[in-house]
Amino acid sequence: MAASDGLTELAPGLWALRQKKGGYVHAFLAETGGELSLVDTLWNADGSVVLRALSQLGRRPSELKRIAITHGHRSHLGGAALLQRVTGATIHAHPAEGDILAGKRRAKRVPITLRPPSLIKFRLGLALGIPKHPPFGIDEPLRDGDAFGPFEVVHAPGHSPGHLAFWWAERRALVAGDAIATWPSTAPGWPDFQLDPAAHERSLKRMASLEPLLVGVGHGEPIADGSPDRVHALAERAGGI
Ligand SMILES: [Zn+2]
Ligand SMILES: [Zn+2]
Repeated sequence: MAASDGLTELAPGLWALRQKKGGYVHAFLAETGGELSLVDTLWNADGSVVLRALSQLGRRPSELKRIAITHGHRSHLGGAALLQRVTGATIHAHPAEGDILAGKRRAKRVPITLRPPSLIKFRLGLALGIPKHPPFGIDEPLRDGDAFGPFEVVHAPGHSPGHLAFWWAERRALVAGDAIATWPSTAPGWPDFQLDPAAHERSLKRMASLEPLLVGVGHGEPIADGSPDRVHALAERAGGI
């Protein structure tokens, strides 16, 4: 594991898993009743960052019961096929992303602009459909209001049609996926990566209305201080894009 990759406990029973590759991509692991639920599987196709995190926590791979994928972009689903196989976890995602996860359709491209420079390779990756991920199927679809481990599923379209967020009410913790980014800078998603900006703005307003105290994001460190105000401010900014 690279020095920048690792595991951080955000709240009781909630951890962030971080990988530098894929744009400081983050996944989120939650424990309830001894069962582990994972949101996203990071960049590596070998699942190594996730498997090492489980080992660091003293948990067996078979204790991972379910995996949700926020959306069909390469950084977030690299390890899914392997983890499905070696842990026996069921895979859950919104049906609108299913054919991308299964390798039958490419994720939709976004405009090739040169700013910020750190995002150029991700724009090109989407345009060219590379690198490919090991394909996998959805075991159970997720829709708005469904339960996933301790989370309530929030359908938050905009970044992509089947983009999902996850709300743990008891912890007031929100996993916002790529609707919010804190790398390379804090923003209402990466600029020009929202396939439907109007839907994206509505999704951010809905997330802000939850008044989260902790916000895990797809790229960059979680937001822990003053989160409700910051999410409201990001939703306002999204309206101005
Ligand atoms: Zn994305
Ligand atoms: Zn992403």
